[in-house]
Amino acid sequence: MKVGCHVSISGSIDRAVDNAVDRECTAFQIFTRNPRGWNAAPLDDGVAGAFREKLAASGIEEDAVCAHMPYLPNLASPKDEGFARSVRSLVEETERCAKLGIRYLVTHLGSHLGSGEEAGMGRLVEGLSEAGRAKNNVMILLENTAGQKNSVGSEFGQLGELLRKLRPAKKFGVCLDTCHAFAYGYDLRTKKSARAAFDEFDAKVGLGNLRILHLNDAKAGLGSRLDRHYHLGLGEIGEEGISAAARMASGRGIPVILETPIDGERDDAGNIRKARELA
Ligand code: ZN
Ligand code: MN
Ligand code: MN
Repeated sequence: MKVGCHVSISGSIDRAVDNAVDRECTAFQIFTRNPRGWNAAPLDDGVAGAFREKLAASGIEEDAVCAHMPYLPNLASPKDEGFARSVRSLVEETERCAKLGIRYLVTHLGSHLGSGEEAGMGRLVEGLSEAGRAKNNVMILLENTAGQKNSVGSEFGQLGELLRKLRPAKKFGVCLDTCHAFAYGYDLRTKKSARAAFDEFDAKVGLGNLRILHLNDAKAGLGSRLDRHYHLGLGEIGEEGISAAARMASGRGIPVILETPIDGERDDAGNIRKARELA
């Protein structure tokens, strides 16, 4: 099973690989830079080389590593300046990933800020397509959202519709977040309900397009539309549902990434152990 967590790049990006190895990760996710700012210092050649070398030595497979977009870009924005800046940031992140040898870049779909879903989808198709034309092999993964006000891409049908509009198709895939899906209203609490949700995902998006599973339990209830991640099995989804999701992914060879909190209850290594146990 390819499983691991989001790891810190504090100090230097190559340290992320050390952090992943320390936690016995066979998959991991990073931010390639501070996720809270617009500007990133250029990626140093030596540091990028060190990251690639450590990754090769770690035994972690190339398709089990992803980067996550920073928080500020909004690819569904109706505001011209903010939208242009967001697209530039996305293109730049694909280039950083290419330099690091990272195959997948996970992105949120943003907020239409009241302009409506159709307008938001139009922006997304335009912005994502532009990033798809970048001359590198990085695949952009669309992540489903928890359904916060004005957000785009919580409903599987909408995610599938967007994916089908993007060209070239080989540059795009999907990252499914279990906490977000549950918060939006897909019941994942039992084996049966989880299977029904994954069948719906398969029908509307296609499980073949699923490249990464963000396996998170949820602190808030079904349909709450609140994005609050929690320790595996200890949240509102619970052990049976988390187990069904972990099995679905591991059975298909899909890497599982945890974005669970670190607190007195449990740490990353503890959640990774739990994921292996439940799968
Ligand atoms: Zn995310
Ligand atoms: Mn996520
Ligand atoms: Mn989240």
